[in-house]
Amino acid sequence: MTDAFMMKVSRLTKHYGETRAVDGISFTVPNASVFTILGPNGAGKTTTLEMLEGIREPDSGEIEIFGARLKRITRSVKQRMGVLLQNGGFEPYLKVHEILQLFSSFFQSSLPVDEVLERVALSEKSKALVRTLSGGQKQRLAIGAALINDPDLIFLDEPTTGLDPQARRNIWDIVSGLKARGKTIILTTHYMEEAEALSDEVCIMDYGKIIAQGTPKSLTDDLGEETLIEFHGEDVSSQALDQLQRCCKATRSDQMMITMETEHLAETMESLFAWSREHDIKLHDLTVRQPNLEDVFLALTGRRLRE
Ligand code: ATP
Repeated sequence: MTDAFMMKVSRLTKHYGETRAVDGISFTVPNASVFTILGPNGAGKTTTLEMLEGIREPDSGEIEIFGARLKRITRSVKQRMGVLLQNGGFEPYLKVHEILQLFSSFFQSSLPVDEVLERVALSEKSKALVRTLSGGQKQRLAIGAALINDPDLIFLDEPTTGLDPQARRNIWDIVSGLKARGKTIILTTHYMEEAEALSDEVCIMDYGKIIAQGTPKSLTDDLGEETLIEFHGEDVSSQALDQLQRCCKATRSDQMMITMETEHLAETMESLFAWSREHDIKLHDLTVRQPNLEDVFLALTGRRLRE
C-alpha cells in the first residue's frame, strides 16, 4: 500500500431520532498504526465503528478506504477487514480450532488455523472446548476469529472491557504484535490507560463529536507544563482548602481527591507539607504525576470518562 493512510472519514453522521449518535465526524487513520476512539459510555464509539465496519449505514458522509471513496462499506471491502464480535457468542461445545475453521470457511482466502492460534497465544488450547476457556481466552479466540482472513484493517470495539488486568495486558500484547506486522487497528475504549499504552493516534469523542485528536503525548502536552499532585482529602475542611488554594490551583473531586496543579513542584510540595502540618492533615495516597488522557477529557468537558 503506497498511501500514507488506511482510512479517511469525512463528515460521518448517524442520528437516531433526536439522538445525534455520530454528528459529522472526520478523521484520518494512518497506515500500520493503532488508532483509538476514546470516550465515555454513549459517546458514539460503537455507532462509528459499526458504520466503518459496514454493519450500519451512515445517514451521510464519506469513507475513503483501499483507494475507493464510499458512502457505505461494500462486501468486497469487508473481505479485507477483521471485526471483533462483541460477546463472541461461540458455541460452547465446539473446540477452539473448530471455531476458527468455521470462520475461515466464510472467506475466499484465510490464514492457517494454527498460525492464528499462535498469534492470539491459544496454541495449547486448540483442542479445548469453548466452554472451558477463561474470559480472557474467549476474548483472544474472538480476536483470532477476526484475524482469520489476514485483514489489513482490524476493528476492536472495547476488546478488554470486563477483563482482569493480566487478561487485558495479554490483549495489549496481541494488539502491539499486529501493529508490528504492519496491520492497522481501530480500537475503541473507555480506559484511558489502554488508549495511552497502545495508541499512535487518539480521537476523543463526546456526544457524537470529536472534541480532541492527536498523539497521546500531544493531547496531554496541550494541557501545559503543569504537574499534578493528588491526595485523599476527605478530612480537609473548606477553610483549609481555601488556604491551600493560595499556593496553586487546588480542586476537590466527587471522589474526595484533592488535585493541585503546579509548574513549580518543589516549592508547591514545601507549601503542601507546611499546610498539612499546620492543619494536622494526613496526606493519604499522595501521588505526583503528569497529566493523562483522563485529565484532557476532564479539562475539555468538566466530566470524567467513567462517571
Ligand atoms: P458504550 O461505551 O456504552 O458502548 P458508545 O460510545 O459506543 O457507548 P453508542 O453505542 O455508539 O456509544 O451510542 C451513541 C448514542 O446513540 C447513545 O446515546 C445511544 O443510546 C444511542 N444509540 C445507539 N444505538 C441506538 C439505536 N439502535 N437506536 C437508538 N439509539 C441508539
